[in-house]
Amino acid sequence: MSFSSDVKDELLSVIGQARHCQLAELASIVHFAGKKSKTGAGFDIPVENEHASRKYFTLLTKTFNIKSVSDTVAQALKLNTDTVGNADPDYVTDARLLLKDCCRRAYLRGAFLSGGTVSDPNKGYHLEYVCRSPEQARQLYDILLGYGIPAHTAVRKNHDIVYIKEGEAIVDMLNLMGAHTSLMNLENIRILREVGNTVNRRVNCEAANIAKTINAASKQSEDIEYIRDHYGLARLPDRLREIAEVRLANPEASLKELGEILDPPVGKSGVNHRLRSLSELADSLRT
Ligand SMILES: [Zn+2]
Repeated sequence: MSFSSDVKDELLSVIGQARHCQLAELASIVHFAGKKSKTGAGFDIPVENEHASRKYFTLLTKTFNIKSVSDTVAQALKLNTDTVGNADPDYVTDARLLLKDCCRRAYLRGAFLSGGTVSDPNKGYHLEYVCRSPEQARQLYDILLGYGIPAHTAVRKNHDIVYIKEGEAIVDMLNLMGAHTSLMNLENIRILREVGNTVNRRVNCEAANIAKTINAASKQSEDIEYIRDHYGLARLPDRLREIAEVRLANPEASLKELGEILDPPVGKSGVNHRLRSLSELADSLRT
């Protein structure tokens, strides 16, 4: 099951208590999912749009107490007479249905069930509504703007798209639509992703430090080999000759480990100081 269909499954059971909210969601489904009937009178909600058609019939039976839903023309007339605004799918939802906050949330729900998708949050954040006209995209965009949701518009394959890319804004959207279980699931994934990013950063940082240590050690060995071949280790003062021999014998040891091998042992900074003297000597031999 995709996250998108999980959200829609949850929204199927989110139904506004008040009749005004139910009408707003009905109208939204008609305008986002409705198709004009072939006869020219009324419209159908295509059964392929499973979530939209299921919610549509649930709302219809609740709102109008309709038992049989076979006659779509009758539904359309009924919707008209009950002022769902214009029940023609070619129009946008009547603004009078969207005056209340609760009704605008119901509208967003119907629109998402009809033409919305949201990406798997493990892969990225993207929620979008496919609209049927630029006017409808404008209406939806304005409603989202009213809620402070940073929405964007685009045209894809002749469809007007309204989309949201920010994880935070998608959380807000799920809240507005009433998909609270999905919201919790999304938040959990967001937290895990955030923790994962921190762990990745730390691992990268440690790897960089290890690489730095190895590079420094191999540079020290190179310098000591250069001295050995062009000057001779035997000519070095004892304290430098000792550390040079220990370094060559232990190419991967840390400075602290090298110091412990020496007899008597030498601290990390003492080891560092002696190795630096060797490097300076190698540099002066090279020039
Ligand atoms: Zn309402």
